[in-house]
Parts: sequence; structure tokens; C-alpha cells
Amino acid sequence: MKEISIREQIRKRGYISEIEPYVPTTDLIFTAAHIGKLEVNKTVYHVHQMHIEDALSDTENFFRAFYKTHDVPYLKYLINKKYLKLFKRLNVSPFELPVIPKTVSGDTFYGGLITELKDSYPNVSFIGIELNSLVTELTSSSYAHEITHAEVDSVNGAIGSYYNSEVLSVFIELQLAELLDKSENILRTFDSRRIYEIETLARELRDFKQNRLEKSEDDALIDSKYVVSDVRAYNLFAEYYFGSNATREYIKSRIQSIFDGNYTVEELLNEFMDINRLNDLNPTLSLAPKAVKYFKR
Ligand SMILES: [Zn+2]
Repeated sequence: MKEISIREQIRKRGYISEIEPYVPTTDLIFTAAHIGKLEVNKTVYHVHQMHIEDALSDTENFFRAFYKTHDVPYLKYLINKKYLKLFKRLNVSPFELPVIPKTVSGDTFYGGLITELKDSYPNVSFIGIELNSLVTELTSSSYAHEITHAEVDSVNGAIGSYYNSEVLSVFIELQLAELLDKSENILRTFDSRRIYEIETLARELRDFKQNRLEKSEDDALIDSKYVVSDVRAYNLFAEYYFGSNATREYIKSRIQSIFDGNYTVEELLNEFMDINRLNDLNPTLSLAPKAVKYFKR
């Protein structure tokens, strides 16, 4: 998928197309920097290593208890050589997609959904899910993140804007992290990671806009996607985290409707924050007071 540009991916996935690199406000950069400096977000929480089977089954059990998943298009390669490719198209449970451990230096890689995009139906098919070969208590949430991509990306129109294509995956990653560990070490590890991501990428996008930093347009669009999706996912997660049982159930049921193809990510976001679907270059994107309270807990 690396060989096709982000704009081409946006077109093939059917997102609204008039997207530009996002320009963050100074307020967002300051707020993220302030949160990132707090002791709770600088602490390195200890997480244990795990067996891959246990990590994957924790995710599957979570989905079984919280959501009803649908089958997704799987492109199963029987032969994948340079000049000879033979594959079968199948519809499988997202949990049947092959999991491919990836050995990387450092801990900056968590997972990825290998996707093939075509102009013909089905225009999105999945080949497998990559996860960091170092399996820890964080792996289940990263796997849940990719399973969510498979669920939402295979439903036409579930996401309107490329900017919002990480929102549900980040939300569900946090939803599972909260459940896995009552002391919240896992959740806080994800929080630190994401607040660092928001702060760093927002600063870079500002510098890119001011011609003080070189970046390809594709990288600027990818960074924009993470900043916008992370902020919106946390604004939504703060509603969930501090919400009554009824609010939590409501958000869950709305996410189920998105998986089922009866509702969109933008409609859900609009219930909790102001999202302009047609001109999604929202210059007022900011962390909601509830999200700031969440990061300060
Ligand atoms: Zn993702």
C-alpha cells in the first residue's frame, strides 16, 4: 500500500477528498505541551511481557462482551512471488486475519493492518495484522485498535473524513486498556504515548506550515490524521470515562451502529463536539475541558 499516495488512498476509500494538511492552533500546542509535562504523563509505568495467545484472546473476549463484529474481506495469498501471485478472496471474522509479528528496534511500532485497495468491489481487502513481536500487556489494546480498523474500514461510508479514520481505533484501544488494569498503568501508558504524539505532530505541522520544517505532503496528511483523530478520540473517551453507566452504554451502542453500517463516526462525534463534515479543516480543534481533566487525573 506504500506505493500509492495518501490522496489516492483517500479517493479509493471514498472519504471526502478536499483535505489539506491540518494547521493546529497555538492553544492546542500549548495545552498538549502543558499536559505532557505533568508528572503522571512523564512517568514510565511498568508493563509485563505476555504470551501472544493470551494477548490475542483478551482482545477477542473483550469484543465478544462489548460488540458484535461482522466478517471482513480477506485476501489470502496462496503464492506471493514477484511474477506469480495466486490468491483467494474470503470473508472471515476479523480474528481470523493472520497475525504477523514484526521485529522492530525500539518500541515505536505497535501494529498495522495490511490493506489492499482496489477500484473494483470490494475496494478494501485485508491481508493481515502486524503486531510488535515484543508482546506485552499493551499488545491486546494494539490488536483491538487494528481489529477496529478492519471492522470500520470495510463498511462503506462509516467514516466521512480521512482526518477521523483513527478515532474509533484509538477510542477502543483506550476502552480495552481501562478494563485490563484497574490501577490504570496500561491506560496511562497509552495516554502518555498519545499526548506525546499530539504535541510532537502538532508542533511539526505548525513548523511545516511556516516552511520551517521539510515534510512530504503525504507525511503531513498522515500526521494531520493522527493529531485530529487523537484529539477527537480523547474528547470522546473523556465523556465515556467520566460518564454515567447510561452514557457509557449509549456510546457503546452508537459504535455498534457504526460497525453495522447504520451510523457514521462523524454523527457520533457531532453528538459530543462540533464537527463540520464538509469542511473538516476545523481550525478550532482543541482538547475539551473534560479531556484536560482526564489527562490531569
Ligand atoms: Zn490506526
